[in-house]
Amino acid sequence: MSVRVRYAPSPTGLQHVGGLRTALFNYLFARANHGVFYLRIEDTDRSRYNPDSEKDLYQSLRWAGISWDEGPDIGGPYGPYVQSQRLDLYRRYTQRLLEAGKAYRCFCSPQRLEELRKQQEAAGQPTGYDRRCRSLSADESNARAANGEPFVIRAALPLEGSIMIHDLLLGSMEFAFKDLPVDPVLFKSDGFPTYHLAHVVDDHLMQTTHVIRSQEWLSSLGLHAWLFEALDLKPPHYLHLPLVLGPDGQKLSKRHGATSVRQFVEQGFLPQALVNGLALLGWSYDDSREYFSLNELEAIFTLEKLNKSPAVLDYKKLEHFNTLHIKNLADDVLLEEFCQYMKEHQNLDRCDTVKAQVRYLLPHLRERVVYLNQVVDWIAPLWERPEEWPEIVTKKSNPEKTAQLLRMSLELMQDLEQVEEEVLERRFREWCDSNDVKLGDVLMPLRIAIIGKKVSLPLFPFAKVLGKEEVLRRVGCAIDFLTDKERT
Ligand code: GLU
Repeated sequence: MSVRVRYAPSPTGLQHVGGLRTALFNYLFARANHGVFYLRIEDTDRSRYNPDSEKDLYQSLRWAGISWDEGPDIGGPYGPYVQSQRLDLYRRYTQRLLEAGKAYRCFCSPQRLEELRKQQEAAGQPTGYDRRCRSLSADESNARAANGEPFVIRAALPLEGSIMIHDLLLGSMEFAFKDLPVDPVLFKSDGFPTYHLAHVVDDHLMQTTHVIRSQEWLSSLGLHAWLFEALDLKPPHYLHLPLVLGPDGQKLSKRHGATSVRQFVEQGFLPQALVNGLALLGWSYDDSREYFSLNELEAIFTLEKLNKSPAVLDYKKLEHFNTLHIKNLADDVLLEEFCQYMKEHQNLDRCDTVKAQVRYLLPHLRERVVYLNQVVDWIAPLWERPEEWPEIVTKKSNPEKTAQLLRMSLELMQDLEQVEEEVLERRFREWCDSNDVKLGDVLMPLRIAIIGKKVSLPLFPFAKVLGKEEVLRRVGCAIDFLTDKERT
């Protein structure tokens, strides 16, 4: 049987990294087994539906490099892949349950349920439905429905006994019916099914072989297992992934840091780094290796290497992965990432016009950039000429001496055809040696004259990509600035 797995998000907010981890593991499992990974939108909770969230979901998955073989946008043999477009199917299956006496109409009003809850709370009893409508006769139920009275459809869960289901990671699990919520709603009065019913129907019809999802769904697993049994359907294999926690061991939340994929993107993460970090949330290859590309993961991922204990999202480690992936990406890919980031998040098209220069500076950028949003600070002096040089005169020096050093620097460069790194390096060293001056004392004012800052990419490669004319011009302007200063 070939593997068919899915990612089935409910579009209610921005794509969470925990969800991306679920999508990733399903995707990797499908790819490693030459199976199918499909996308299904579970949008039956209309009160929480958010159309922007659907867009964000596609963007997040694409950004991460996770592609799907079937889905709402590309179709497939079991479509439509959006639950709100499959209502007839859910009605049909609910009808089966009604006819078999495994579900019933409940006409209790929201007000009554609210009253009931208050009474139960006041009496210190567990809250939940009191099964009032479960004993309605079929005739009465049909008549009231025909009369247009609003109703929901509830599962008529067995009153005693239990159900067993096997989880591929957690082993066999037994759920006593008395511990499950009382007769959960399967179909709401707004004509939409609840997630519980809809996903069972869809996982059956869409021939899902494995449901790989987070452990937060474990509490509903007993109901899901019962639904498959009640509908006489074979359940898929279930596997519940360990929860994703924050560094303090609590459920991951905003106070820990970024939680949505969009936040990580904006912060300047490479998709490769986030994917690498997420792959290790509950999975490991061996003790020695943690650095992986998506391609490698696709080849080596196995469910056997998943672990049960909760996974902690370590932001420091993610940062480390970002640094590593920035170091290792191919030049073209990295350059594209840099420029793309500036365009999309910093509104800068500039990178395109200085691509050749940035490419030359890549080795130096790789060493310094931790997040993509930092690139612009290093390269902006390519197009931004310094206009003021407040830090150019060091404590040990004065405007006159500084101007002199710059004039000397100009002389050292004037006759060159191009300001080549090695030539500059040699000339400045030789001059410093024979004049008993420290190289740093010459290069710092020169760096500030050309780049405008004390901390910058290495001066000589930067000067090379700026070109001789621009370099001389900037040094000239700095000298003018210093001479004006001397006069005032
Ligand atoms: N729609 C559910 C969610 O939002 C999917 C749970 C499942 O994978 O069965 O997470």
